Amino acid sequence: MPLRWGGEAARIAVIPGDGIGKEVTPEAVKVIRAATAKAKRPLEFVELDWGADKYLKEGVTLPSGAVEMLRDEFDAILFGALGDPRVPSNQHAADILLGLRFKLDLYVNARPVELLQDRLTPLRDRKEKDIRFMVFRENTEGLYVGMGGFFKKGTADEIAVQEDVNSRKGVERIIRYAYDYARQNGLNRVCMSDKSNAMTYAHDLWQRVFKELKQEYPKIESRHLYIDTLAMEVVRDPSQFEVIVTCNLFGDIVSDLGAQLAGGLGLAPSGNIHPGRTSLFEPVHGSAPNIAGKGIANPFGSVLASAMMLDFLDWKPEAQVLREGVRSALKESFVTPDLGGMKQTVEVGDWLAKYAEKSL
Ligand code: ATP
Repeated sequence: MPLRWGGEAARIAVIPGDGIGKEVTPEAVKVIRAATAKAKRPLEFVELDWGADKYLKEGVTLPSGAVEMLRDEFDAILFGALGDPRVPSNQHAADILLGLRFKLDLYVNARPVELLQDRLTPLRDRKEKDIRFMVFRENTEGLYVGMGGFFKKGTADEIAVQEDVNSRKGVERIIRYAYDYARQNGLNRVCMSDKSNAMTYAHDLWQRVFKELKQEYPKIESRHLYIDTLAMEVVRDPSQFEVIVTCNLFGDIVSDLGAQLAGGLGLAPSGNIHPGRTSLFEPVHGSAPNIAGKGIANPFGSVLASAMMLDFLDWKPEAQVLREGVRSALKESFVTPDLGGMKQTVEVGDWLAKYAEKSL
């Protein structure tokens, strides 16, 4: 991965957003600061107040010039969550999060699925070693590009069309990223999943690109599964998977299925990545208005997303410290109520920061 920040300070834009995003993100920043306190390269954090409050006060979602600023002045973005009952349309979330994904061309959605403690999986008799795979979801094309329209809207004859957009370049770069990730991380198995038996144009392209690319990675075992079969197999025997690569829609679904296999939303991290460019890291969960303001949100998802961000910035040992901290907190049952504990968000953040300090 080309690094353009080599040697200098890394600059991180922090967007806590709404709801529990505002509670978990400061804890993650606290833990990152602790883990990187003695590093030679400083990390610089700049907080941005984008979210529902700003939208309601000023009518601004993604400020003008924001994308260029993030692209040119920052190395990474640590994102919380967006969503607020006062904005039923969720317009600000669409503008900010989808805006950044598309405008920064963050074509890789990386969703690690890793069981950190046996008791957390709903699958009977499955152990940590059985659930450990990576899902790479194409993040800028497919059914999420917002192309389509209505015909005779609101009538009994209404027709709604949503286009599934797949470019040769888009398909190739996500499949190639999956293979390169496998190769760089000593993994042997890549599974591409589509629905080419039914989506005979869009996913025929996926088939052809996959067949071409797999020749370039002869040491990696390449496999194809239709998405319906993949969904069954991931539940039946998750241990058979190491790297899964798929389109935007299927990746959205499979990665959430994976999150549940590994302990639920509170623990799942994600990266929205364009190698060598400003990339965005966030917990998978949303703003959770039902528990916002109570101080009980689980910060693990945000801390694990921060570990992915540190990996991306090439701070590998520090990233490892964050992950080990979460594992240790789980082992000691120092956890929030969603994981069966009694701790507050801030208490867990403090615990992880102390763990990081001790590990330096
Ligand atoms: P949004 O509309 O922003 O996506 P949501 O409430 O619909 O928010 P999530 O926040 O993703 O969806 O999560 C659904 C539920 O899971 C929450 O209402 C909450 O009860 C629980 N949850 C999610 N994340 C966490 C967390 N970090 N800690 C504790 N509980 C969580």
